Amino acid sequence: MDEREALIKAGEIARQVKREVTGLIRPGAKLYDIAEFVERRIVELGGKPAFPCNLSINEVAAHYTPYRGDESTLGEGDYLKVDLGVHVDGYIADTALTFRVGMEEDELMKAAREALENAISTVRAGVRINEIGRAIEETIRGRGFNPIVNLSGHKVERYRLHAGVSIPNVYRPGDTYELREGDVIAIEPFATIGAGQVIEVPPALIFMYIRDRPVRMSHARRLLMHIKNNYKTLPFAYRWLQGFMPEGQLKLALAQLEKMGAIRGYPILREVRGGNVAQFEHTVIVEKDGAYITT
Ligand code: MN
Ligand code: MN
Repeated sequence: MDEREALIKAGEIARQVKREVTGLIRPGAKLYDIAEFVERRIVELGGKPAFPCNLSINEVAAHYTPYRGDESTLGEGDYLKVDLGVHVDGYIADTALTFRVGMEEDELMKAAREALENAISTVRAGVRINEIGRAIEETIRGRGFNPIVNLSGHKVERYRLHAGVSIPNVYRPGDTYELREGDVIAIEPFATIGAGQVIEVPPALIFMYIRDRPVRMSHARRLLMHIKNNYKTLPFAYRWLQGFMPEGQLKLALAQLEKMGAIRGYPILREVRGGNVAQFEHTVIVEKDGAYITT
């Protein structure tokens, strides 16, 4: 299987799981069950989770993933962002959609979805990424909402979810990177009724390996080995480690590894003014005359 085939397979799995998860979205559904379903189906269909399934509600824009024992459920009218990633041999398809629990798509969701469509229609080799930002910003503001300015899409490479270049959600003259044929990029507009900015709030439920560091605590050393062997340079969930060692030990070891700079934690991202947020995302391959949507 070559690179393109692996990515296309990852994208097909992601698309299938998005279709299937729709059936689970109803008032009273547990976030824990939804995340476990998504990640299990990815594996059953022949892929691996490229990162923990993010299930972020209302003013939480991203980076919430449930933990074992999490009793959070969906409420009628909640904006649920399902952000999932599949990798096949390290080739990553990253995609997201928003549901309004028990309700039809509304104007906020439509703004984010159309921003994604318009952004994708600008993509071809030679285009500067600020044209993508412009399409997103104009679409969302044109519908009376705000884009989230400090969240962005990203270039994707093998085993690297965020590979250097950010794909902006607003127009900035300085974003002059020119897309090249074969680039893989994730485009992910966020629309909000809030101010259009996110802040980090604890806790971090998602982490990623950064580098080897000399670790004295033996539990932390053992945990770092386990993380490297299982998740390499891709993000992982606190939930995935629950049961690997006793909870108290696990929390200490993670804190130790983060303090040493061996891993980094990704706290929950909340809209600064508490405004509801909608997000849609596709991973696309840049082609000479357009974009191939993998997801
Ligand atoms: Mn995503
Ligand atoms: Mn992404």
